[in-house]
Amino acid sequence: MDAGSEIELSDIRNIGIVAHIDAGKTTTTERILYYTGREHRLGSVDEGTTVTDYLEEEKRRGITITAAATSCFWRDKVINIIDTPGHVDFTAEVERSLRVLDGAVVVFDSVEGVEAQSETVWRQADTYKVPRIAFANKLDRMGALFSRVTDSMVDKLGAEPIAIQFPLGSEADFYGLVDLVENRALVFPEEHLGSRVEQIDIPGEVSEEVRFAREEMIEKIAELDEKILEKFIEGIEPTAEELRAALRRITLSSAAVPVLCGSSLKNKGVQPLLDAIVDLLPSPVEMPPVDGVHPKTEKAIRRNADPDEPFSALVFKIISKPTGDLTFMRVYSGKASRGDKVYNPRLGKFERLAHIYRMHADRPETVEQVRAGDIIAMTGLKATGTGDTLCDGHARILLEELAFPETLISMAVEPETNAERDKLELALATVSREDPTFKYKYDDETGQLIVSGMGELHLEIIVSKLRSEFKVKMRVGEPRVSYRETVTTGAESRGEFEKLVAGRQQFGAVKLRIEPSEDHLVPVFENEIREPNLTREYLEAIRDGVMSAVQSGALAAYPSINLKVVLTGFEYREEESSPPAYVAAASVAYRRAFSEGSPVLLEPLMSLEVTTPEEYLGNIVNDLNKRRATITDMQEKAAGIRVVKGRVPLSEMFGYATIVRSMSQGRATYTLEPSTYQPVPEEMTKKLLLV
Ligand code: GDP
Ligand code: MG
Repeated sequence: MDAGSEIELSDIRNIGIVAHIDAGKTTTTERILYYTGREHRLGSVDEGTTVTDYLEEEKRRGITITAAATSCFWRDKVINIIDTPGHVDFTAEVERSLRVLDGAVVVFDSVEGVEAQSETVWRQADTYKVPRIAFANKLDRMGALFSRVTDSMVDKLGAEPIAIQFPLGSEADFYGLVDLVENRALVFPEEHLGSRVEQIDIPGEVSEEVRFAREEMIEKIAELDEKILEKFIEGIEPTAEELRAALRRITLSSAAVPVLCGSSLKNKGVQPLLDAIVDLLPSPVEMPPVDGVHPKTEKAIRRNADPDEPFSALVFKIISKPTGDLTFMRVYSGKASRGDKVYNPRLGKFERLAHIYRMHADRPETVEQVRAGDIIAMTGLKATGTGDTLCDGHARILLEELAFPETLISMAVEPETNAERDKLELALATVSREDPTFKYKYDDETGQLIVSGMGELHLEIIVSKLRSEFKVKMRVGEPRVSYRETVTTGAESRGEFEKLVAGRQQFGAVKLRIEPSEDHLVPVFENEIREPNLTREYLEAIRDGVMSAVQSGALAAYPSINLKVVLTGFEYREEESSPPAYVAAASVAYRRAFSEGSPVLLEPLMSLEVTTPEEYLGNIVNDLNKRRATITDMQEKAAGIRVVKGRVPLSEMFGYATIVRSMSQGRATYTLEPSTYQPVPEEMTKKLLLV
C-alpha cells in the first residue's frame, strides 16, 4: 500500500524544530525518530552518529547545517520534521523552512533560558505567523529551572507562555513530569531507554504545587478562550478534552504558547511532546490558502490546500550531489504522480518527477503520488533551484518567492590547474542551486572567480565541501566584505545608444530618475510615462538594462541597494529602434544618474552579542571599541557573567572567533547577525576605491 495517497490532510503535521545552537534540537529530533519506531538505534550527537546530521561536515562540526525533511508516524498521523540550522550564518535557512511549515517546536535549554539566536528565530516565526509550542529541555542539568524558560519567554520574547506540564524532581534527580491537562504523572524508566512511558500516582510531596500549577494553567486558558471562561465562571471543572481543544485554538491563533518540559538526552518527556505536536499544532487544512500570480499576466491566483485543485508546490530545499539533485517540495494544492511532468515558470520548462520519496532520515520510501499539504522529496529534476515554483502546465502559477538575504562576504577561488576549472564551475553551479545564499561570478575586471556567502563559516564549509565531495583542487583567497553602493540624493539622466550593428542602424534613448529608497533593499524599477511606441517589449528591454546595471554599481562595481529607478523619458525612431539598443541606453542612463546622485559605499553592519565572564569584560570592550563597535547594552546575565550588546561593521570582525577565544581563555562566546548597511567612513572609502 502506498502511504502517499492514503493520508488525510488533517492527519499531517508539518513542523520545524528550532532552537539556539546546543539547546538540544538534534538530540530531540533523534529521540522523536527513535520513539516513533523508525530508528532502531539511538544516535548521539557527541559521537557524531546522528541520522539527521547526515552531511559529513555536520558530523565533523557537530552542528546542523542542512534542513533535512524527515517523516515519521505517531498515533496514525504523519509528522514531517524539518531540522533547522542553529548557527547564525544560516538564518536564511531557518527563515526558508519557516515558510513551508505549519507549526514549530521551539527548544530551550532550561539552564540558559531564552538565548540570543532564539530571539531571532522567534521574530521570524512571528513574521510568518507560525503557531508554536515550546520544549524546556535539559531539565537534568545542574542549575536547570523550568520557570527560567517560561520567565525569559515573557521577558525576552514578550510571549505568553502556558506551562502545561510540571517537572518531577530536578537537576540530576529529574525523573518525570505531570501532564497538567490530564492531571496524571508520567515517568520514563531508563531500562527501556525511556521508550515505555508509565503512569504513576502524583507524588504526595508535590500534590499541592501541582494543584496550584494546574489552576494557574486553567486560569490562563480561561483568559484566552471563551468556552473555558464560561466553565470557569460557572465553577465547573473543564474536562481534559475541553482543555486540549481550547489549547489547540489558542496555539493556532498564536495567542499563547504551551510549554512542555523534559530532557531529551535522558529520554524524558519526548512522547508527551509528540502528543502535543499532534494535539496542538495545525494540520495543512487549518492553514490559509496560498497566494501566487500567473507567470505571464501577473494576475493574482489563490489555491486551497485541496487535492482536487490544480497542482502547485514550492521547492524549499535541494541537496545536490555530483550524481543528481534530491529536491524537497511543499505541495500546496492538487496532486502529482511519479513520472508526471510539472512546469517550472521561472525556467519556462517542464521537469519530470522521476521518483517521489518520503524521507525517513536514514532511508527513502518510494511513494506513487503526492498530494496537497505534504512535504516530500523527489529526484529527476535537472535545473529547478531552491525557491522555485512547480505547477500544473495547464494551470500555471508562480508562488510568492522566498526572500534570500544579500550575501555579506566574498573571496576569490582559483582552480589549481586549468583542467580543474570545468570541475570547479560545475561544482559551483550545483552548490548554488542548492543554497541560494551562496553565489559565484567572474569579476569583470580581474577575471577572477569570486564566491560569496553569509559569513566566514558559511564559505569555509562550502570550500571544504567542494574539496571533499566534489574533489576540486583549488586555492582560496582571503575573505572580504561584500560592500554595496547607493545614492544619497535623487538624480535624473539621459542615456543613448546609436550604432551601426550588422549593417543596420540601431537606436534607443531613455531618461531615468534614481531615488534613494530605504524600503527597497533590492532596487525596483517603475515606469512613469505613457507612450504609444513604448511597447511591452521595449519596456522589458529597459528593465533588463536597469536590472543588470544595478548588479554592479557605478562607483566600484558593487551591487546597488536601497534605491528606486523610474523611467521618465522614452525616445523612439521608426525603423531604428530595437530592444538591444534600449538595454544599452538604459544602462548608460543608469550609470550617469547614479554618479550624479552623490553615491556612497555601504558596508554590512552586524548585531553583536558577547557573553563573557566578568574578568575579561574590560579587554573585550576595549578591543570592540577599536573595531568601530557601538555598544548599546552591558548587562549582568548571571552572577559574574556579562552580556555585551552592540553593533559592529562586519569588516572589523574577521577571525573574531579566534580572538575572542584567546582573550577569554576560551570562555567568552558571541553571536553575530546581519542588521543593516551603513555608509563606509570617508577615509576608508578612499582606500577601498583606490584598490
Ligand atoms: P543542537 O545544537 O540544538 O542540535 O543541540 P544538540 O542536540 O546537538 O545538543 C547539544 C549538546 O547538548 C550535546 O552535547 C547534547 O548531548 C546535549 N544535550 C542535548 N539534550 C540534552 C539534555 O536534555 N540534557 C543534557 N544534560 N544535555 C543535553
Ligand atoms: Mg544540531
